[in-house]
Amino acid sequence: MSIEKLQPFLAPTYENFPKGRTIGVVVLRTTQSETIFRTEGTGEAMCSEYVQAGVIDVTPIPRLVMTKRKQVAPERRKGREFLRVHELLYKDPKGNSICALNTNAPCEKCIDCFLYGFAAGGEGAQKSRVWTEDAFSVLSSTDLMGERTINAIFETGTMRDEDGKASTALNTSEYIKPGVHFLDIVTFKDVTADELRYALSNILLTTRYGAVSSRVGRMENQILGIFGGIAELPSSLELVQGVYDNLPADHREHPLNPEVLVSTAQAVISTWRTRRGISIQLSQSELEELIADVDHHISADQQASFLRRLDTSYEPMRKVKADSKKKGKAKSEV
Ligand SMILES: [Zn+2]
Repeated sequence: MSIEKLQPFLAPTYENFPKGRTIGVVVLRTTQSETIFRTEGTGEAMCSEYVQAGVIDVTPIPRLVMTKRKQVAPERRKGREFLRVHELLYKDPKGNSICALNTNAPCEKCIDCFLYGFAAGGEGAQKSRVWTEDAFSVLSSTDLMGERTINAIFETGTMRDEDGKASTALNTSEYIKPGVHFLDIVTFKDVTADELRYALSNILLTTRYGAVSSRVGRMENQILGIFGGIAELPSSLELVQGVYDNLPADHREHPLNPEVLVSTAQAVISTWRTRRGISIQLSQSELEELIADVDHHISADQQASFLRRLDTSYEPMRKVKADSKKKGKAKSEV
């Protein structure tokens, strides 16, 4: 099985101390609808940065940025939906509430807390073992944005009042067009095989990003490559720049041909095997096999036992934590 090929770079069991085992995953994220990456209602502009177009072509262009938070938060929420279904989210250490994101009371015991980390108010912390970075659009943001004015709707359900007067514009909203591509590197540090399956399934199952509504924010993720080694892959910025340089000149316009983009990206990342600290890249068939393996583990009849198995793997560490807390208490009581 292809996950075995990654074995030297996977942890056999969860442990507290890092050992430099690194899995690097190349993800292509494509918008499937209008998408908005900003906090709704704040009027904050869509995030873009001026960077060099390519490594060779040094013309500065503005690129759309999909920040780390915009990627990871929805993916964690996706995994946590299943943990909730199977009752694998726990009460916080004080026993007050069930583990929730963005609160000060993580349970410190669930799969999500162990893998993606948490910072508890002074009580200790768990570093995330899923490292992300900002993802960049392949093309210049000037070609990728649209603007729409949202009008108030009258009770008649139209944008005209009874006298036929048009409603006033509420605000102008910038959005990212459908068919926009972001390239992204996700790094897993010292994860076990089951943790890798869990994290990959979150990436593959998440379909909504940014401002969430039933109409906007639809995105599709595709895994283009998986590497193992003792160092991180080149950055996602270096990746988009390498891809930009290698795109045929008549293919540098929106909408990009997805096949040309994917084959260009695959050609660029195939040169990474010679980079310092990178030992292996899964072949195309091994990659497909690994994704089929992930799909199998999260299929309707396997998911519960898979998640329970992963959850149980933390049991020794939960015991250690509980014991050390008891000891700490005993000491302070003396
Ligand atoms: Zn938790």
